[in-house]
Amino acid sequence: MEIDNMTALEVRNALLNDMQNGINAAWRNPAKIPYAEAIGHAPLGRVDVFDARLRVKHFAPLMMKLFPETAANNGIIESDLVKIDNMKQFLNDKKNCNILGDLFIKMDGELAVAGSVKARGGIYEVLCFAEKIALEKGILDDDEDDHTKLATPSAKEIFSQYTIQVGSTGNLGLSVGIMAAVLGFKAVVHMSSDAKEWKKALLREKGVTVVEYEGNYSEAVAKGREAASKDEFTHFVDDEKSVDLLLGYSVSAHYLKKQLKKKNILVDENHPLLVYIPCGVGGAPAGITLGLKLAFGDNVHCFFVEPVSAPCMLLGLVTGLFEHISVQDIGLSGKTEADGLAVSRPSGLASRLIRPFLSGEMTVHDRMLNRYLKALWNTEGLFIEPSACAAFEGVAVLHSIETAEYADSVMNIKDGTMKNATHIVWATGGGLVPEEIRQELINKAEYTEE
Ligand SMILES: *Cc1c(COP(=O)(O)O)cnc(C)c1O
Repeated sequence: MEIDNMTALEVRNALLNDMQNGINAAWRNPAKIPYAEAIGHAPLGRVDVFDARLRVKHFAPLMMKLFPETAANNGIIESDLVKIDNMKQFLNDKKNCNILGDLFIKMDGELAVAGSVKARGGIYEVLCFAEKIALEKGILDDDEDDHTKLATPSAKEIFSQYTIQVGSTGNLGLSVGIMAAVLGFKAVVHMSSDAKEWKKALLREKGVTVVEYEGNYSEAVAKGREAASKDEFTHFVDDEKSVDLLLGYSVSAHYLKKQLKKKNILVDENHPLLVYIPCGVGGAPAGITLGLKLAFGDNVHCFFVEPVSAPCMLLGLVTGLFEHISVQDIGLSGKTEADGLAVSRPSGLASRLIRPFLSGEMTVHDRMLNRYLKALWNTEGLFIEPSACAAFEGVAVLHSIETAEYADSVMNIKDGTMKNATHIVWATGGGLVPEEIRQELINKAEYTEE
């Protein structure tokens, strides 16, 4: 494609045509603007993210009490940042890439309690709701009071009068359901037909009510929202609209910055940071990106990756229609092996927020997810779930020989500094996948390139 000779409209139409025909896309976001300007207009900013970080700290003693495994990190739910040289070599050899700089993986699949990135947002939102009730009912005197009081029998009795509901493709239901049930809330998770059986079974085991829907994710969310709106004792965790959820994800950047510092990894004008994040409805990647932008400004470049069959965020951004267009509107199925990304319509909040910050997007075929899954297992001995593997397509596409031109146009990175880059593949889930399903996923994948 001779991009220079095409108008913006033609570029957009060609991209939409590719998307409709199931061709994987590499998109540069034309709406990205310098950080200083973007943050000035953003609906959420430094104060909000800082406030969320403080709140996470206030909850830490409670988390240690409820989940002793979080004590090793003082009650803060965080994941490791692991250098994956062997996987980098694999991508260079098998994907015909030339990755400059170092490749890391952010192991959010190993986050305590919920085993996915949802341990950041989902747990945070449940805790915020519990704190609000506790303040109203006098369990807590103020927001700096001892939050372990939320885990006393008297608190539990009060919480048991409330129901927390959520619509989920799987992992959000796990995090919200587990956290709500532990505090004594009644929990109801509305699941789309894409949700994996083992996720439903695990929730039922924890005492959570699972309601199943034939339809897709947006329908599950709408049903949950409707059920909750009729009842003042019900709180609905709204994946398409919730600010708390998004802010819960944003806290990650602060701890990532510390991790990078500890590893003596520089991020500055001469040392760019590139981050690749799988995207479903958009709350998690948008929250993480907001946090990263606040932490690193123009020196961080964020890319979202979505399935070829469910590129809802890309569609919302490219058309400028945000949540008012679904992938079915352009004839796509929305069906994918990547259950966490099986979303047909993006979050209005996340898509609007992210528009001026995001560097670009890639879409990925399902068959590649399994290959990345197997490659990561074989080269590094790390297991992540198929949805999380989408992030590898980001780094692969950005560095594939054929798309070098795209890479240049996207990044606006100072000449000669890519060799100093740090790449982070955000591995969003996999920690709770049962052993036998892990084996199945590992065995079924091919180790080879197409
Ligand atoms: C939820 C999820 C995502 C995407 O998060 P959204 O907020 O839906 O965009 C990515 N990967 C996994 C494993 C998830 O569970």
